[in-house]
Amino acid sequence: MADIGLVGLGVMGANLALNMAEKGYSVAVFNRTTEKTDAFIANAGSLAERLTPCKTLTELAEAVEPPRPVVIMVKAGEAVDSQADILAGHLAQGDILIDAGNANFHDTRRRVKEFADRGIDFLGVGVSGGEEGARHGPSVMAGGKPEAWARVEKIFNDIAAKFEGESCAALVGPEGAGHFVKTIHNGIEYADMQMIAEIYGIMRDGLGMAPAEMAEVFDQWNNGPLKSYLIEITAAVLGTTDPKTGGPLVDIILDTAGQKGTGRWSVIEAQDLGSPATVIEAAVAARSLSSQKEQRVADEALFGAAPRKIGPALGDRNSAMIILEEAMLAGKIAAYAQGFAVMAKASESFGWDLPLGTVAKIWRAGCIIRSAFLDDIASTYEADGAIRSLMTVEPFTGMLKATHGSLRRVCAEASLKGVPVLALGSALGYFDFARTARSTADLTQAQRDFFGAHGFERLDEPGKVAHGPWSNA
Ligand code: NAP
Repeated sequence: MADIGLVGLGVMGANLALNMAEKGYSVAVFNRTTEKTDAFIANAGSLAERLTPCKTLTELAEAVEPPRPVVIMVKAGEAVDSQADILAGHLAQGDILIDAGNANFHDTRRRVKEFADRGIDFLGVGVSGGEEGARHGPSVMAGGKPEAWARVEKIFNDIAAKFEGESCAALVGPEGAGHFVKTIHNGIEYADMQMIAEIYGIMRDGLGMAPAEMAEVFDQWNNGPLKSYLIEITAAVLGTTDPKTGGPLVDIILDTAGQKGTGRWSVIEAQDLGSPATVIEAAVAARSLSSQKEQRVADEALFGAAPRKIGPALGDRNSAMIILEEAMLAGKIAAYAQGFAVMAKASESFGWDLPLGTVAKIWRAGCIIRSAFLDDIASTYEADGAIRSLMTVEPFTGMLKATHGSLRRVCAEASLKGVPVLALGSALGYFDFARTARSTADLTQAQRDFFGAHGFERLDEPGKVAHGPWSNA
């Protein structure tokens, strides 16, 4: 009988099943569209002997050795509910349903409760790393009961990415914690990608650099503090030639970016928790703006194109590249500080006790935001899990002190010439606000009291509610 069942043979499910089979597990597989199951088995090569194709969910439940772990890897939302509901009808006490898709953590919390009532453990497991990660080693963020996780931990440890021999799979908390952490991972991924895109915009439009030149710079940056998968693939993308035109591939790609929802969810959760994630918010907004291509074309005609040429304002080419690298690093520190602060706030609000050091550790390999930088974050949270903000502890404080000037210069020059820097500008604004002891909220409080009698606190009478002698009062 099979060690585990897997429902959903799309990009992620098919690769996860092959990964499990390669690690020696026998896997019973099912897909709603049976032809996909047949094609999957036909293309599995020698791994097919460890794969049991099933035509129905009943067949799948019968093919797995009890107590049965069954992974569901289908489109998030209603599809998970329907597949889990049918499966549960064939499962018994002690079996485990594992949603490994990108679920909204509120849904996972609900499902954990619903299935507990039916005697079935439900794990919400975030899986990152795309197709390649699923096939050869993803980062795995699990949420649920420790006893349930203990029963499948070995399988996930075996298939997960390894960082210096350590598995990048972990139980990060109860119920929806795994999917929440995956959501914030994706939010940070949006922020990283948008800041890289803005630096690319400055290089392309502000400095007139060709894709091949930019590829070299990103390649060099991949040996420094920005070393990461996203910087590495940016270099590879910019260095790729279009076989049809013989020109750089990036130049013929339509400039509208898609999104599937996890970036937006992370912003919604950040807002609900009152923990600002301005860089992620800007990155999500940038994707939405990018998709409004027609309006952008019309508005460029209406207002005229911005000059965009930054020229020598950032110094010679070498100096400009150093300033851009430092600006990116400063922006990255702000974005990660925000993402980790949102997780800390969620941990407190939901009573999850999220191990942020472990979260950073399992992001060091396998996932899309894997980087050298996360190793520093992991050490920082391992040393003190209760830090207030990544920006206020070393080595990040020192790095920010050394680089925020460059972020300011880049944002200033880009803004003067009309190169959009939504995410980098948000990072700078966040940093500046965060270190302003006397903010401008005194005026906001006065206005709120003026029109709504909301009251304010006087500096000379702390703790008391005061009202102004407004002329409308
Ligand atoms: P995909 O290639 O589009 O495949 C979707 C799968 O869901 C197919 O097996 C499909 O079955 C099944 N499905 C859709 N609606 C269904 C329904 N109503 N009932 C039963 N099955 C249904 O998707 P994917 O990229 O593998 O993504 C799967 C999950 O992983 C999603 O939650 C996604 O957000 C998450 N994820 C994706 C990535 C990535 O890089 N792609 C990375 C991390 C996480 P049919 O063949 O019958 O249509």
